[in-house]
Amino acid sequence: MSTARVLIVEDESIIALDIQISLQNAGYQVVSIATNAEEALSDTAVLQPDLVLMDIRLRGEMDGVETAEQIRQMWQLPVIFLTAHADENTLSRAKRTQPFGYILKPFEDRELITMIEIALSRHKAEALIQAALEKEKEINELKSRFVSVVSHEFRNPLNTILFSTELLQRYGTQITDQKKEIYLGRIQGSVKRMNELLSDVLTVGETEAGKLQFSPHPIDVARFCKELVDEFHLTGKRKSPIAFSFRQTCTSDSAPLPWVDERLLRHILTNLLSNAVKYSPSGDPIEFKLNLSDRSAIFRIQDHGIGIPKADQVSLFQSFHRASNVKAIPGTGLGLSIVKQCVDLHGGTITVESDENEGTLFTVTLPLNRQSAHENNPCY
Ligand code: ATP
Ligand code: MG
Repeated sequence: MSTARVLIVEDESIIALDIQISLQNAGYQVVSIATNAEEALSDTAVLQPDLVLMDIRLRGEMDGVETAEQIRQMWQLPVIFLTAHADENTLSRAKRTQPFGYILKPFEDRELITMIEIALSRHKAEALIQAALEKEKEINELKSRFVSVVSHEFRNPLNTILFSTELLQRYGTQITDQKKEIYLGRIQGSVKRMNELLSDVLTVGETEAGKLQFSPHPIDVARFCKELVDEFHLTGKRKSPIAFSFRQTCTSDSAPLPWVDERLLRHILTNLLSNAVKYSPSGDPIEFKLNLSDRSAIFRIQDHGIGIPKADQVSLFQSFHRASNVKAIPGTGLGLSIVKQCVDLHGGTITVESDENEGTLFTVTLPLNRQSAHENNPCY
């Protein structure tokens, strides 16, 4: 039997006491007995019962039907009407408030308890359906936002490609080799940007479908970072130099390699490094520090760029959130949400310290496992 908390609204004190005893005997908790509409509303607000038993005929300006209507609108609580009078007019007014039950006085205890139990389980089922509908609505809104942001972001590089190829086609024989290089560079840059966008879209899709998983392998983290930085320099992302430095504080030089998911780590570092480059003036150096110990890897990526306003820092890891100071710098606001998911899958943490126009420092800490293969893998 349920231990639900019930509010009784009944102005006949003997009937109210009788109901209270029946409910308590059945294991319910009676949170209060209200004798008029005002008390009923204030008791509901303060005591937040699970269900209200409402006498239809209440003394005062508001009767039980009106009070139930307000309770339903304000708190979406189940209300069961109690009445000795079942005239047509009252019944049809009561029906309009979508009551969870309607019980005629005098009634048997068993009738009342059955009605309460049905009302509680119907209310629970309706609340679950409502939550599912809201979740669905949220997902649909996210999807439409996703489609509109991503399509918008695709338009810029596509326009650049179109514009540059048209120029090359029309004036190819008249323009200098240097100019041609610039147009070709713009086309390559745009293709790269679209590639990155596609990869973000696929990763977000994977995370939503729960397919992005943690599958670690032993890797040389310092070497991995160095190679990633070399790649960044080769692909010339806005030509900002990344100064990589590495410090190891392991207890032994021959410690086994840590187990890390290379793919997730790549998502984390490329997003943080490309943000550092993107949100800094061209040519501004970026510092990338790795600190490896027996049990953790700490990555620090620091720039001296536009910084992030304090008000935006709280929602930074939510999809599509972009700070108010990005102006015309392109982006979808997906990168950091992917970073957060990847850090979480590693069981790690990410923090940000930033001041507007001063710069930003992201710190990612990943716990490391350095056990040998057969200690990690049950197949060995
Ligand atoms: P993209 O999805 O292409 O990465 P984005 O860079 O706008 O787009 P995120 O990487 O998720 O999206 O970053 C979210 C927001 O956080 C950015 O729009 C920017 O406002 C702010 N931000 C992130 N990194 C930095 C940084 N290093 N300096 C200043 N602002 C930053
Ligand atoms: Mg980004």
